Amino acid sequence: MVTASAVEREAGLCLLPAARNSLQSKNMSEIETNATERQARYNPAEIEPKWQARWDADPALYAAEGHDSGKPKFYCLEMLPYPSGQLHMGHVRNYAIGDALARYMWMRGYNVLHPMGWDAFGLPAENAALKNNTPPREWTLQNIAAMKKQMRRMGLSYDWSTEVTTCLPDYYRWNQWFFVKMFEKGLAYRKKSKVNWCPDCQTVLANEQVINGRCWRHEDTLVELRDLTQWFLRITKYADELLDGLDKLEGWPEKVRTMQRNWIGRSEGALVDFAVDGDPGKKATAGPSTSLRSAQDDTYNARDDIRNAQDDTCDVITVFTTRVDTIFGATSVQLAPEHAVAKAFATEDAALAEKIEALLAEQKKAREADDFGAIEKHGVNTGRFAVNPFNGERVPIWVGNYILADYGTGAIMSVPGHDERDFEFALKYGLEVRRVIAPESGAEVPELPFTAEGDAVLINSREWDGLSCVEAQQKMAAFAEKNGFGSATVTYRLKDWGVSRQRYWGTPIPMVYCENGHAGLEPGGVVALPESALPVLLPAQVEITQEGGSPLGRVAEFLNTMCPVCGGPARRETDTMDTFVDSSWYFYRYTDAKNETAPFESDKANYWFPMDQYIGGVEHAILHLIYSRFWTKVMRDLGMIKSDEPAERLFTQGMVIKDGAKMSKSKGNVVSPDDMIARYGADATRMYSLFAAPPDRDLEWQEEGVAGISRFLGRVYRLTTKYAELTRESGVARAANRTEIDQALLRRLHQTIAKMTLDFSGRWHFNTSIAAIMSLVNEIVAAEVAIDEGKASPAAVAEIVRNLVLMLAPFAPFFAAELWEQIGGEGIVFRTAWPVVDEELAREDEIEIPVQVNGKLVNVIKVAAGSEEEAIKVAALADEKVMARIVGKTVVKVIVVPGKLVNLVVK
Ligand SMILES: [Zn+2]
Ligand SMILES: [Zn+2]
Repeated sequence: MVTASAVEREAGLCLLPAARNSLQSKNMSEIETNATERQARYNPAEIEPKWQARWDADPALYAAEGHDSGKPKFYCLEMLPYPSGQLHMGHVRNYAIGDALARYMWMRGYNVLHPMGWDAFGLPAENAALKNNTPPREWTLQNIAAMKKQMRRMGLSYDWSTEVTTCLPDYYRWNQWFFVKMFEKGLAYRKKSKVNWCPDCQTVLANEQVINGRCWRHEDTLVELRDLTQWFLRITKYADELLDGLDKLEGWPEKVRTMQRNWIGRSEGALVDFAVDGDPGKKATAGPSTSLRSAQDDTYNARDDIRNAQDDTCDVITVFTTRVDTIFGATSVQLAPEHAVAKAFATEDAALAEKIEALLAEQKKAREADDFGAIEKHGVNTGRFAVNPFNGERVPIWVGNYILADYGTGAIMSVPGHDERDFEFALKYGLEVRRVIAPESGAEVPELPFTAEGDAVLINSREWDGLSCVEAQQKMAAFAEKNGFGSATVTYRLKDWGVSRQRYWGTPIPMVYCENGHAGLEPGGVVALPESALPVLLPAQVEITQEGGSPLGRVAEFLNTMCPVCGGPARRETDTMDTFVDSSWYFYRYTDAKNETAPFESDKANYWFPMDQYIGGVEHAILHLIYSRFWTKVMRDLGMIKSDEPAERLFTQGMVIKDGAKMSKSKGNVVSPDDMIARYGADATRMYSLFAAPPDRDLEWQEEGVAGISRFLGRVYRLTTKYAELTRESGVARAANRTEIDQALLRRLHQTIAKMTLDFSGRWHFNTSIAAIMSLVNEIVAAEVAIDEGKASPAAVAEIVRNLVLMLAPFAPFFAAELWEQIGGEGIVFRTAWPVVDEELAREDEIEIPVQVNGKLVNVIKVAAGSEEEAIKVAALADEKVMARIVGKTVVKVIVVPGKLVNLVVK
């Protein structure tokens, strides 16, 4: 039964003042009586399957038109799901938002593309195979079938003719095609480097998949660093463009842009070589410096090459600094515990090794505790020295627990006089603090550390004295470069995207290793497969285990092949691609999903892209949304598309939570969409997910809320069917002579249309849109007796009923389709034009209010009838005559008698 509190909830969290008033004044027993009556009539279990069957039988219903349709286009997309086998409430919410928008845009006359697909590769299928002995492909396709059935049951308006399933060869062959293209362009390459290894996944992870030192799939598993030869995609080549492009993405949430900016982490600075142990002969060693120089030809990979160089040599420490202008103030060099030079020292000194081990343990612990920023800084003096190449000074080499091996070069020069962190460390260990920067004006020299660089100049820096910090940074870097011990550089936190995975269920990397070699290729060298050899199919019969490298390496028929160049024996690459490759370009495939000769036709993609609206969770701010921007730029540079960015607008919806926590099996707070649909219908379930919170906020799931929406739909159903015959007979004529009741109801109707239209155009506060519809319905119910007594004109009632059904269509499609048919609506409700606001009708009646200043009448102002006190006060103070009277005086008090009078007391 309906309780007062449930009615409140049902009518909305963001209840409009008018709605609140009308609810409070309404007779609760009336609602209770109606409840019994209507529940017998509105039966979603009957209506929804009926319409689903009709829609399923009409595959063209939601198909987009060609680009010659003459209509403006709208590409609306929700992120594709991983086919786990079950939709959860987060999906329901995501899809309900996209579906409401797609249907609304259809009603606005757009040519809408609204597709769906499956991000179908990935580890869970292998885990399921181990557990249930079901092959990954079979498991995945079963799950897709189950989820597709749920989506159809929800009445989502997807064009299934463009469905994309990433684990099928007709899709993944194009991943391979792109990979070869990128290889040819130098964008895909292989190198040995330190990579992130998840011991649970038994595979390498991209940097983006490491969250606070842990695996993105295993929250409790610390990621290890391993040396492996892996395939990388050169995303860093686009680092600047990815960064600059964010400024133009005004339709993206600011938080996502900020997260991407931070992730790309551009910083300008210099690399400087400090020779180890003060041997002047080794000060500018040829080995690493040469490799450093060649690294600079390709700025983007400088750091990785340097790190590799360090693995091979221990006589140079390359530091990265953003403040090379302070180098005369360097009083130590600080290494990460895992730095190659630190390791080399440790092999010669067991006591030191133990201390470094302890620092590393502290570092790991801080990372585990997710609190690295607050680590208590500890260090150990190695007893060795490094030479500052700018002044030949020997400075001690320390190892610090606060220096990370995988950040920068894993080594810094410590300048305590001009860096907070270095200062703190120097105080603790009694290292020298030296002043080399001073304010330009010659003003009193501030206390150390002095970290400013604007309006500051170098001192105690020999020939560099007097240069401004900014000038010195450029000149000193150039000097280092000229003399072979450093260079200016730009570093990025963003690193190249490691895409090799030692797993089975992914796209095979289309590369082979020619065993004997051929002209221009040494034995074992890598050869890209020609297009004619694609796709490289995943073998079906594979024993899945989680040990000993990629399962593909144990399939002889897959492994052994022929070199496409010389015909000699060759071995296939056995790693598969990171599944984020699949989702990097899938939305382009939707525009031409059946294409067998290319990933898609450029004309089609250029018509639909950029997407007008992309909708998904904010958890994809870094991974998917950076990769897909990168992929878009690569495709543009391959001449395949014109746009620079995949999506014009991005919307990130909030999470669905229950009892204050994210729904999860382990917490036992999962609400199944199937249960909700069985109990209340798909329309009520979807509409509740839009109603219970603004879409960008978290939503606390409450079943009574779904029940409330169901009752609300029941009320609309009762009203609509009651006036169905009247509506059919009245057609679409407007009321000629409007009665008072007509006037009041039509005003509310057109105000509701105006509000909804505004909400759809930008802020998407569907919760308040739905509350506005509820408020309208409450007014109709309140006027029902009068209507039935003939005090409203049939044409007005018909206009209200028709538009009520149209306004509900984006939120409750089965319901709207059923009622549209019952009231004799022509054609498909979702192709019927969205109601147009009649501004004249929507306008509130105005009333006149006299405004007095100190008891004397000054003017009479006009305000909307029913205006709140605050609004009347604002209007009075803004009136010109009133302003003229109070200018230069102090308003001591404003007395408002709503609807009657305003009196200002001034001094
Ligand atoms: Zn893992
Ligand atoms: Zn060969």
